[in-house]
Amino acid sequence: MIATSLRSGVEQLGDMIAEAAIIVPFTGAGISTETGIPDFRSPGGLWTRNKPIPYDEFVASQDARDEAWRRRFAMEPTFAAAKPGRGHRALASLYKAGKIPAIITQNIDNLHQASGFKTDDVIELHGNTTYARCIGCGKSYELSWVKTRFDADGLAPSCIVCDEPVKTATISFGQAMPEAEMHRAAELARQCDLFIAIGSSLVVWPAAGFPLLAKNAGARLVIINNEQTEQDEHADLVIRHDIGETLGPFVGN
Ligand code: NAD
Repeated sequence: MIATSLRSGVEQLGDMIAEAAIIVPFTGAGISTETGIPDFRSPGGLWTRNKPIPYDEFVASQDARDEAWRRRFAMEPTFAAAKPGRGHRALASLYKAGKIPAIITQNIDNLHQASGFKTDDVIELHGNTTYARCIGCGKSYELSWVKTRFDADGLAPSCIVCDEPVKTATISFGQAMPEAEMHRAAELARQCDLFIAIGSSLVVWPAAGFPLLAKNAGARLVIINNEQTEQDEHADLVIRHDIGETLGPFVGN
């Protein structure tokens, strides 16, 4: 059912939150747009400017790796300046109140952690762009380590241990999904009685399967997105409004 107005959507969501024992939020890039980080698919989003570099291309080509890091460093001022928005803060309040055991996110911006979620309680399906990893041995690197080497010769660096390429700790198209995270997300989706999909176009699979998994396991499903999504017909409540406006009233003290 689509909420007839923002106000009625907020009221119905408030009732559902009050009635729920276990709430699991599932977030996409839309929750972070008000913090200044563009999403992928909105007009002017990253997708329209830079087609993502698939994983096999990154592995096979130094040029692709150089380009990937050039883009990442071009985005750094935006990521570094972003502070949790109203959506992040509202979810953190519900987490603090014990209503949310953990959050599933497609986002890579670290803003749920910055808003107060413990690292272990943020299930990152697509990894995290605020640090880097060797794709061979998994050694972690600070972005500043990569930047120093990249600035020296314009080349994306390799691991000091195994000489394999170093990549942001994100999951690219064509890269295997993280198993433990997928497993934990599925468990959370099955356990909850309210699942809230927030700011995701719900077209990136397999992540987009979790709302339906929750719904089929008996949870109520809420979708908050300022545009239609392919899964609206399955939702108990669709709030087609701005996320900050919708979740702002749930920010606690
Ligand atoms: P998406 O770009 O495909 O979809 C974002 C959705 O949010 C769109 O449907 C858009 O209409 C909606 N939206 C944007 N701003 C909104 C607002 N203020 N209020 C209400 N709705 C709003 O993003 P996705 O579904 O998360 O999938 C894209 C992939 O891109 C993700 O897997 C993620 O890894 C990656 N990504 C992450 C970030 C980030 O971490 N902030 C940013 C861009 C892309």
